[in-house]
Amino acid sequence: MWTLLPWLLACASPPTPPAAAPAKDVVLIVIDTLRADALGPAHTPTLDALAARGEAAPLAWSGGTWTVPSVISLFTGAPVRQHGWDGPTGQQGRYPKLPTLPTLAETFRAAGFTTIGLYANGYLAEELGFDRGFDVWRRVPDAAMPKALAETLAALPPDPDRRHLLYLHLLGPHSTLRPSEEAAARHGVTEAVAAAGKQGLDIGAVARARRDPSVAETYRRAYHAVVEDTDARLGALLTAMGPMAERAAIVVTSDHGELIGERGLAGHGNQLFAPLTQVPYVAVNVGPLPPALSTVSTAARLSEAAGLDTRWPVVPELPLVAQREGALTLTLDGQAQAIWREGEAAVYSVGAIEAEPTADDGRYAHARAAWEAAVPEGARPGEAEALRPGTEETLRGLGYLE
Ligand SMILES: [Zn+2]
Repeated sequence: MWTLLPWLLACASPPTPPAAAPAKDVVLIVIDTLRADALGPAHTPTLDALAARGEAAPLAWSGGTWTVPSVISLFTGAPVRQHGWDGPTGQQGRYPKLPTLPTLAETFRAAGFTTIGLYANGYLAEELGFDRGFDVWRRVPDAAMPKALAETLAALPPDPDRRHLLYLHLLGPHSTLRPSEEAAARHGVTEAVAAAGKQGLDIGAVARARRDPSVAETYRRAYHAVVEDTDARLGALLTAMGPMAERAAIVVTSDHGELIGERGLAGHGNQLFAPLTQVPYVAVNVGPLPPALSTVSTAARLSEAAGLDTRWPVVPELPLVAQREGALTLTLDGQAQAIWREGEAAVYSVGAIEAEPTADDGRYAHARAAWEAAVPEGARPGEAEALRPGTEETLRGLGYLE
């Protein structure tokens, strides 16, 4: 029988590499309003170094095109269709609370993690329920966030076994823009930034100056300058984490992009064009990324990286879908996107969204039907509640309530 042994060994399937050990700590960083194509024109050495340690997804789409529905998708792992929260921006400060689906922070806290969230966007307020599951949930402006993070971590009682979930949400290149002098100089907008003064450069000016592409061009340069400043801040956040940053599972992405003059549009109002849906996605110590992914799958990806056996909503990998106030867009390959406002789809070339759309040859309607069959429609959220006056003021400052 011993003669069989070499044969048996030769026939045995090759040993599978051992699964990576679960990450002790998990970090999700959202840079608000960051277009995927900003990386390149803006130099982002911190993000590049993270991508070199891990991976950058070739194509990533957000589930929504403004902060609240998109972050709810990050927190619940559910597309807008399933979590049901699809309110418009600027609704007189009245919004319903988050749906009751389990959230990332609730799940990690139940698994013994200490959950810390620092956010700069006033929309992520407690009264909407974004604090659910967080031990710490605190609004901190971008510039103060690295210090606030270091202090928050230092204030925890010493415990070498403690596991952390960090959610850090920077406003980054969200309007209004106030790039540093150095970054403004690198992008040739020193004068425009000086002229805007403390007010900063407002995306509304791009919308108002539709016929003058130079206004959009100036804004785009300032936007890239702010992305560089934000990348430096990302580096400061990683430093504030200390050794945790070396071994944690980390995802850096955005909640949506920004239109900067395309088709005469600006900002992230009621639209679904690819500059709004396509976002960067960099992951370290997180299982291999598919070539195309939705940010909606982030909760599942991070749970798996941490070794948690959690059931998140099951969403097909393709098509990539984003929704906004009853409208829907999808892409199969990142080259073209179908947008339905109602009825028929209009198909746009992602690389040339100024060009007139073409009609769907049936592929997109088919993909949409299959996706909707796989993703159950959730209940609409409850009654809208008035925001506290302080929150309303914050949002007005961000240009949301006009
Ligand atoms: Zn946002």
